[in-house]
Amino acid sequence: MARGATRAVRVLRASTAGFCAGVRRAIALAESAARNAGGARVFSDGPLIHNAGEIKRLEALGVKAAPGGAGENAPGGAGDIVIIRAHGAAPERVEALEKAGFRVVDATCPHVKRIQDTVRGAAQAGLAVWIAGDANHAEVKALVAWGSAGAARGGAGTARGGAGTIVVGSGEEARNAPDPGRPITLVAQSSMDEAAFEEIRAAAVARFGEKAVEAHCTVCAAARERRAEVEALARVCDAIVVVGDRSSANSRRLAELAGRLKPTQFVESAEEVDVGALRGARGSAGKAHQTVGVTAGASVPEATIRAVEEKICHTEAQR
Ligand code: SF4
Repeated sequence: MARGATRAVRVLRASTAGFCAGVRRAIALAESAARNAGGARVFSDGPLIHNAGEIKRLEALGVKAAPGGAGENAPGGAGDIVIIRAHGAAPERVEALEKAGFRVVDATCPHVKRIQDTVRGAAQAGLAVWIAGDANHAEVKALVAWGSAGAARGGAGTARGGAGTIVVGSGEEARNAPDPGRPITLVAQSSMDEAAFEEIRAAAVARFGEKAVEAHCTVCAAARERRAEVEALARVCDAIVVVGDRSSANSRRLAELAGRLKPTQFVESAEEVDVGALRGARGSAGKAHQTVGVTAGASVPEATIRAVEEKICHTEAQR
């Protein structure tokens, strides 16, 4: 191979790259609220999605992201519109906003809504609820609140001692969590890794028996398919570029997975693509071109993905 010679770069994009149905829906609801506001101010209850560029674009349309949420100690008041983001919100949060006179547009993803319903229904029926996931994630915090609300309605929870709804982050935590003394309904944060959920389920079953653990693997299919596609890309690509916001746990996990399989770059925009490093990612000997796989998190707009692809295509790989 001649030193310094180059070969073409081929880009393979994952079909799951970019907006998922839940994010697309939240954005459409926000755009529609801004169009039909009729003079009212429009806020999202925290950043609508994990993408700074898209939030800026929505701001230009009139949707302001209220970092700590709209309402108390935050902008907005009676008559203004608040959009609940795709991760959902605690039921008392929605009630408080409505009580304060806000018009609430619920952009909770339907998949997350189903998890909320499962959690609330189980807690209301007097079951313990275990949420497998990250206790600091907004979706999980809201799910805990839905569990508490269900327990309060059903008169369960504190009556049987201890918290009725808890978050379990790992198999280790499942082994050490307090015995709830009643059957457990186990659900997963929508973006959780399925293997991690299975570890928690197995630990719970080992402690309390199969019959005492009703497991609902509520990992979203969109997140699952995105990961499966990264594995498939890694089999045929020389390098992978994952586009996503660094504040998105989903995107970070995608990049971690890709990084375990192939040389990977995790970028927020085309400007961050390291062309030099891509040139160095050698492919199989004798291949006429180098192949770079591209995928993106659920909050990444099409224009950003396209700009990244264009930058990669103008990279000439070293032979
Ligand atoms: S990743 Fe799944 S759960 Fe999350 S917003 Fe998208 S469709 Fe909904």
